[in-house]
Amino acid sequence: MKYVAELKAKIREKLPELDVVIGWKQGFDPVHASPAFMTTPEEIEQLVVNPLCVQNLATYLPGLKGKKVGIVARECDTRSIGELLQESLIEREELTVFSVKCPGAVDLVKLRQQVGDLGRVRSISFDGPRVTVETPDESSSLDLGELLPGKCRVMAYDEPVLADFRFVDPDQDTVCREEADTDLVALEQMDLDERFAYWRGHLDRCIRCYACRNVCPMCVCQDQCIADTRDPHWLSAETDVRQKWMFQLIHAMHLAGRCTECGECERACPMDIPILTIRRKLNREIHELFGYTSGMDVDAVPPLLTFQPEEKSITEREW
Ligand code: SF4
Ligand code: SF4
Repeated sequence: MKYVAELKAKIREKLPELDVVIGWKQGFDPVHASPAFMTTPEEIEQLVVNPLCVQNLATYLPGLKGKKVGIVARECDTRSIGELLQESLIEREELTVFSVKCPGAVDLVKLRQQVGDLGRVRSISFDGPRVTVETPDESSSLDLGELLPGKCRVMAYDEPVLADFRFVDPDQDTVCREEADTDLVALEQMDLDERFAYWRGHLDRCIRCYACRNVCPMCVCQDQCIADTRDPHWLSAETDVRQKWMFQLIHAMHLAGRCTECGECERACPMDIPILTIRRKLNREIHELFGYTSGMDVDAVPPLLTFQPEEKSITEREW
């Protein structure tokens, strides 16, 4: 991205006031970027911003509460920061947001479907909407739009929710789109038996690794997570689908109206289970009931963190 030199210069300038700045750097192979925790000018030189920088770095913020933290954030990532601020899980005065225009994102599952074994990729480069992937056998020119994760197809963000510094490449258009949520529509069109079979089939593959929980920026009570506690003992260690289902439903309900649809849970899932659809469904219900979209207004009170004696959109007296 053209703004990376300018971004690095600004981070260098602000670093003496901060304990750490979180960004991305090249990962262990050509197709992976890794979170970077920058505390020295040398580490700032490793910073990269490209469509392989897929991690929502807001996940690290609650754990760094009490420190002065800078964060490099795409527009959609600032939505998670907004929700964390709303819930007082982080403090605004401890935070410096280096907001960057999102360069798009690559879903590695889709990339693997196009080019095969990702271990054979020697290099990957980006030129606007084109992605060039080199393997020992061939060079493939792919469309970035075809590689976008599902979350980038149903929500579009032109501007950040909040920013202290903003970095934009004037030649670059917004990559994410607001298309119909076909996965959710298809699910809603199933009858209850079909839906039951759908989730039973998917959740049976869950290995209860809890990557979906650990990567979630809003899943903040991991030390006392009901998946791990023995008192109260909500879940057993059995591997039958009922226990996996129970865990997913509890996770989803705890995130109802708080989930910022960053898609990290689904990206981290090693079993490719479409768990983001459950969160999206609950968020649509919350929006319908309370007119609320998580993380978009740092001054708003999330509806499930408060109550009113009577909710206008809930007609409980008629039941
Ligand atoms: S539940 Fe998934 S999509 Fe929602 S905030 Fe957590 S990681 Fe992001
Ligand atoms: S990341 Fe996937 S496999 Fe792991 S616990 Fe979550 S749903 Fe199950």
